[in-house]
Amino acid sequence: MINQLARRLGLKAMLIAPWLAMNLSHASEPVFVPKAQWVVDKVYAIVGPLGQRSVPNAGLNANYGFVVTEQGVILIDSGASAHSAALLEKAIAKVTPQPVRWVLNTGSQDHRWLGNDYFARKGAQVHALAATVQTQKTVAEQQVAGMSRFVGEQMKGTSPRHADVVHPGAEVSLQLGGVQIQWMDTSAHYPGDTMIHLPMSAVTFTGDLVYVDRLLGVLPQSNVRKANQAFARLAALSPKHVVPGHGRVTNMAQAQKETGDYYQFLIANIGAAARNLEPMSETLDKFASPMPFKHLQNFEDLHRGNMNRVFVDFEANP
Ligand SMILES: [Zn+2]
Repeated sequence: MINQLARRLGLKAMLIAPWLAMNLSHASEPVFVPKAQWVVDKVYAIVGPLGQRSVPNAGLNANYGFVVTEQGVILIDSGASAHSAALLEKAIAKVTPQPVRWVLNTGSQDHRWLGNDYFARKGAQVHALAATVQTQKTVAEQQVAGMSRFVGEQMKGTSPRHADVVHPGAEVSLQLGGVQIQWMDTSAHYPGDTMIHLPMSAVTFTGDLVYVDRLLGVLPQSNVRKANQAFARLAALSPKHVVPGHGRVTNMAQAQKETGDYYQFLIANIGAAARNLEPMSETLDKFASPMPFKHLQNFEDLHRGNMNRVFVDFEANP
């Protein structure tokens, strides 16, 4: 009798166990191992997953890049923590024995710069535009707290560190390791966001100006008008290879369809309605399901909120 009961319980436990494991420990999300992807010449991208920050992805849910020069590696964005910076370093080491000598921050979001300190301690020089650093300073504390909630222990040994070399102005040209760099403010997703163009290789790392495969997010601190202008600037640079802030390495055609056209859609429809003092909820209903963007990942979660923020922005600043 007891035996029988134990056997029945045992069987039941076996049936339940895999289901529990899946639901309690996010076992369904694979561990993300950053991997260098060759783009062109000596330019590489590291493409992060599209989901939220998590322990399995170490907060690296964004894109990174690097350029191998004879004097060392130029790294574009440093990761979300010391732990994740070390993961990026490992991916780079598979391509070249050169150390990371320069780190460039394209923006102020946690996963773009909280790895600065890790590379600086190893001798790298960190560069950023002044407006980027300004935003980083206002958000640093809350970002460390926020990232700790997502990745916990992985934040150990991480301290926010700003650039050693701060470039004033909205645009700068520099040369590192013989590589020409055109660096421009976009202020698209956050104030002081930037894009980095490498004219010799016709590659642009757009930071959070461009998202492909997933819908971009308009945050309260985003600025679709500046984003739209910056996108026009990007189109004028006419890069052959586009490394977006999120999504696969791509070309201008996809960037235009999934980002440029969306900025224009928001301005032409939602912004215009707000300027014309049309009612908000009817406007949001009317444009709830635009065909060209419906297929993008995160559409259901983000589109209405995006429209809402653009409406409020254009209402306040017509
Ligand atoms: Zn981002």
